[in-house]
Amino acid sequence: MHQWTTSSPEETMHFSERMAAYLQPGDVLTLSGDLGAGKTIFTKGLAKGLGIHEMVNSPTFTIVKEYHSGRLPLYHMDVYRISDEEDIGIDDYFEQDGVTVIEWAENIPSWLPDDVLSVVIERAGEHERTITCKTSGDRSERINEEISNDERASD
Ligand code: ADP
Ligand code: MG
Repeated sequence: MHQWTTSSPEETMHFSERMAAYLQPGDVLTLSGDLGAGKTIFTKGLAKGLGIHEMVNSPTFTIVKEYHSGRLPLYHMDVYRISDEEDIGIDDYFEQDGVTVIEWAENIPSWLPDDVLSVVIERAGEHERTITCKTSGDRSERINEEISNDERASD
């Protein structure tokens, strides 16, 4: 487990933009945090870091949005309205060659793969956020290691 603090949306974006450099096809990240914590801001940074130039918005009304203009495809999911009993076919995405980012993944625990980088964003002040990364396998461990060793991640 590793923790960072950011003091603006730009800093959060910068952090996830750096993280994008370490992502590989098939990687899955979950984003947890209250409404307004910064999950979508984080995803925008990740998309930027992947070289995606399309506008990234919260996919609340579509469940999944795909972006294909970067180094790797990005599958951005928001399962806020989904329950664990529903089969929306999200596991199909994990087999593909992109990176999956899931907001509100705590709603669908039984659909998640074993190895996930779990990113928790918490409000620590009006503009302060703590970002905590938890790992559950080799790939998430590796990403966590690389971002932890990246001195520019917290610039
Ligand atoms: P979520 O997707 O978690 O509901 P959003 O990313 O849509 O949250 O919104 C986060 C809000 O918090 C934005 O309005 C953003 O400007 C604001 N904010 C303030 N400080 C930060 C910070 N350090 N990191 C991320 N967002 C921040
Ligand atoms: Mg959001």
